Amino acid sequence: MEKREMLYEGKAKKVFKTDNAEEYIIEYKDDATAFNAKKKGTIEHKGIVNNKMTSIIFALLEEKGIPTHFVKMIDDTHQLVKAVEIVPLEVIIRNTAAGSVCKNFGLEEGVDFDITVQEFCYKNDDLGDPMVNNSHILALGLAAQDEVDVIREYTFKINDILKDFFIKRNLKLIDFKVEFGRLPDGTIVLADEISPDTCRLWDKDTNKKLDKDRFRRDLGEVEEAYQEVLNRVSK
Ligand code: UDP
Repeated sequence: MEKREMLYEGKAKKVFKTDNAEEYIIEYKDDATAFNAKKKGTIEHKGIVNNKMTSIIFALLEEKGIPTHFVKMIDDTHQLVKAVEIVPLEVIIRNTAAGSVCKNFGLEEGVDFDITVQEFCYKNDDLGDPMVNNSHILALGLAAQDEVDVIREYTFKINDILKDFFIKRNLKLIDFKVEFGRLPDGTIVLADEISPDTCRLWDKDTNKKLDKDRFRRDLGEVEEAYQEVLNRVSK
């Protein structure tokens, strides 16, 4: 399988066409951004960690009945995926308060929610990924109601699977973001990545942050945290 024309370069990944119109190759980069790309840097070996971790987790989710775009890992920084059209929504789950929900609603970081919080943001960098509700999604034509319903169903199921997976590895899943895509026949599948860039993960015993917040907030030991998460996920 060979890379052909580059279709898209994002902040953390590049997407290439292949000889097969139904499959793309994704390359994971070490580049890191935060605060809508106002903060930029690199995290050594992040591409390898995020590619390997996403490959392990997407294979697990497939096995548990969540359809995904994942086909296979090709090498340390590349994976083969099914070509999809990305639904322009960031779907967020929060088990514990952290990040923007603390800022927006004046909550203390680290307090567990009694019910699982789910948010949608419109994936649009120029607008700063604003939070949207179900009616915005329909009015803006971002997705149809049956798509929103299946996206919500999958996202809650992913949370149940991941909470269990991570706690067995002494990691607490605070929150995460996922994205979905449409196959040519319209089927909704999980796409993008699941990694320390897109999840908040705290050590269960010490609450040490083992995710991108170490980069966002200049907490140090960034590379080590990513590697530690991959080591635990690989067990
Ligand atoms: N997140 C992400 N991409 C984004 C925004 C958020 O992967 O563009 C993830 C983030 O890593 C965290 C969760 O979604 O695990 C919730 O993020 P939040 O809304 O708190 O935003 P942040 O504090 O990261 O700005």
